Amino acid sequence: NDRHVQRGGIAFYEEEMGEKATARLTLEMNLRKGLALNEFTLYYQPKIEASTGKLKGFEGLMRWIHPKQGLIPPLDFIPLAESTGVIIALEEWALEAACRQLKTWHDAGRMYQLALNLSARHFLSDGVVEKLAHIVKEMGVCPNYLTFEITESVGMENQQHVIERFVAFREQGFSISIDDFGTGFSAFVYLKHYPIHEIKIDRQFIQVTDNDPTGNVIVQSIIELARGLGLKTVCEGIETTDQRDTLRSLGCDEMQGYLFSRPLPIDELETWIDDYDTTKKDSLR
Ligand code: C2E
Ligand code: MG
Ligand code: MG
Ligand code: MG
Repeated sequence: NDRHVQRGGIAFYEEEMGEKATARLTLEMNLRKGLALNEFTLYYQPKIEASTGKLKGFEGLMRWIHPKQGLIPPLDFIPLAESTGVIIALEEWALEAACRQLKTWHDAGRMYQLALNLSARHFLSDGVVEKLAHIVKEMGVCPNYLTFEITESVGMENQQHVIERFVAFREQGFSISIDDFGTGFSAFVYLKHYPIHEIKIDRQFIQVTDNDPTGNVIVQSIIELARGLGLKTVCEGIETTDQRDTLRSLGCDEMQGYLFSRPLPIDELETWIDDYDTTKKDSLR
């Protein structure tokens, strides 16, 4: 652009690249520092059984509470954490934090399920299954209560090593969910080869415009496909009672979305749970 010309072409371009690389390094350093200084936290979003309105469990979603910048959403740091590999340490931390919370609930007889997002890079890394199983065991939680949500970016091609990974997770007692289902194209073809438990239908298929008569065709097909393959379906991004009613009638198993609750920090979540179980459950179900 003409700023390059004004500042003298290539020299400025290099300077700009240098600035970008420096900014990246700074953010990477801050990520590691933030992890060491305990600046990350998990928010929890409820997952509701569609047929009964029962609270089944939660998805844990990462937040970075930066001392100067305040709350930083995952989309502002996860991509860099992935490209630098810091994501592995971050997600191991998240699993520990989630297990500590889950253990507290389970000890109190509240047998919730918990789902965590696992980046493709982490999912495909060496020794991941043993490492995660070890963390869960150390924390004293039963793996049957944990689900890892993986996006189609792991490569939905029928790759033997991906399938073996899925099998290894399953053998440890973990469940696997395909997150944002439908946003990658190869998913339908290879789904039947994957020993997974659940698909989570992307909110773009849930949040169709209300008076579009063909709007639900895709979500209906996905639910039927999943049922045919014996997979559980979760619908994300439910914001209205109309969406809830439609998805329930289409036979989706679990629902998640702002209609029920946004992701909340643990203290607000406990208040929400009390409220939901005593009063809201009937009006929202
Ligand atoms: P996701 O796993 O698909 O999570 C759902 C996102 O949609 C969350 O955003 C959630 O707050 C938002 N959401 C939930 N219900 C509604 C709704 O009714 N309407 C709308 N408009 N949005 C809704 P969030 O928390 O900002 O997380 C964004 C993404 O960041 C996640 O998408 C996930 O891909 C990623 N992420 C978060 N934590 C982790 C993590 O620990 N590891 C990895 N790899 N990714 C993570
Ligand atoms: Mg998710
Ligand atoms: Mg999702
Ligand atoms: Mg998503």
